[in-house]
Amino acid sequence: MKKKAIILIIVLAAASLVGIVLTQLYWVKKAYELKEEQFDNSVRIAVKTIINQFLEQKNDSVFKQNLAILKCRKTKLDVTDIVIPEQLDSLMHDELGSMAIDSNYYYALYKRQSNKFVTGRYEGFEKQLAESRFQFSVAGLYRPGDYYLAIYFPGKVHHLMHQMELWLVLSIVFVIILIATFVSVIFTIVRQTKLSELKNDFINNLTHEFKTPIATSSLAAEMLLRSEMEHNPGKIKKYATVILDENHRLQKQLDQMLQLAALKIGRLKYRLLKVDVHKLINNVIASFDLRIKENKISLETHLIAKNHNIVGDKEHLQNVFFNLVDNAIKYSPVNPVIKISTWNVDNGIMIRVEDNGIGIKKEYQKEIFKNLYRVPTGNIHETRGFGLGLYYVKTVVDQHSGHIHVVSQVGTGSKFNLFLPFKIQ
Ligand code: ADP
Repeated sequence: MKKKAIILIIVLAAASLVGIVLTQLYWVKKAYELKEEQFDNSVRIAVKTIINQFLEQKNDSVFKQNLAILKCRKTKLDVTDIVIPEQLDSLMHDELGSMAIDSNYYYALYKRQSNKFVTGRYEGFEKQLAESRFQFSVAGLYRPGDYYLAIYFPGKVHHLMHQMELWLVLSIVFVIILIATFVSVIFTIVRQTKLSELKNDFINNLTHEFKTPIATSSLAAEMLLRSEMEHNPGKIKKYATVILDENHRLQKQLDQMLQLAALKIGRLKYRLLKVDVHKLINNVIASFDLRIKENKISLETHLIAKNHNIVGDKEHLQNVFFNLVDNAIKYSPVNPVIKISTWNVDNGIMIRVEDNGIGIKKEYQKEIFKNLYRVPTGNIHETRGFGLGLYYVKTVVDQHSGHIHVVSQVGTGSKFNLFLPFKIQ
């Protein structure tokens, strides 16, 4: 899939996800508002019933007589002579309870203008009651004066949320699942795209790396077959050497491929024995002898580790050192100076392969140890390779309970620091 198409799909999917989340939030908000309206209506109905009951009582003839007697004794009737506190309390309890408003509540009969609280259950909640949305005038029961019956529910939000609990939890869970799935799909797409790019590069490289030696050796073989060659032993030797060199090159590429196949199926075989790291390094240096002389490479060693014997696989460790030195030479195009040093640390040995080559940008330093990874250099790679060497190095080092990291600066060079413990843990 093209990069643009992938970006478009990601953007569309992200936009729809945001849309779904926002719609969900909208519906949850709407549901809450609906519940709140239901709650408010229930409270209004309950209070209306209470006020009606007091109204009926006020119109009752016996109550009227009693009030008249009371009026003779006092000069003026109080609001509490009509809205009797004990009765109000019990009615509030009954009515709010019967409307299934079981949340904790406070109420007060108070005079709004002077903020004078007459009766109720209000200690400590005067301010909230005065500001409460539940204010009911009792002017129909007692006049003059602006007495109000106010109710405040401190646990109202909690009560409403509790009623919506199941839906809220389900919404949150589904949204989280949706987001997690989306993120993982995006990661998979990005990873797959990267992998497919790497694979394309790899196949291009492979074609190039195999085609060139085959073409060169067939050409050399054709030359050898020409009749005039019979009398020219110098040329025969020259063309035979070309075929042999190309053959070696092919062999090397094939070995790398096989290494990859073994790494892929996790079947690197290890023969763990006591190995001398210095001896392995010297073997590797010897194998580069010709290249060093031909290309005027300066190779310095500083092998000062006193204890250089570890337990490991000779073959694989030698390949590790070979790959590191090979890279150091490959990626140092001008006047290469390669330094190899060793020293002891607490429970093992440190090996450093240092070069003065092209260096590696910080952003790529972690990537280079990944399978098939090559630092991008546009479409053309001047240096040959498959991006397998360091992946192999890291795998072998990990299997030896060691670790490797790179310190590098573009244009200055790279240092590969490798730690190997004396014994594999
Ligand atoms: P390759 O076959 O491409 O050399 P490696 O796995 O050995 O594969 O290395 C991965 C990438 O790391 C290389 O393509 C190169 O860009 C970078 N690299 C490795 N070693 C060095 C080095 N010594 N100096 C600069 N770049 C390096």
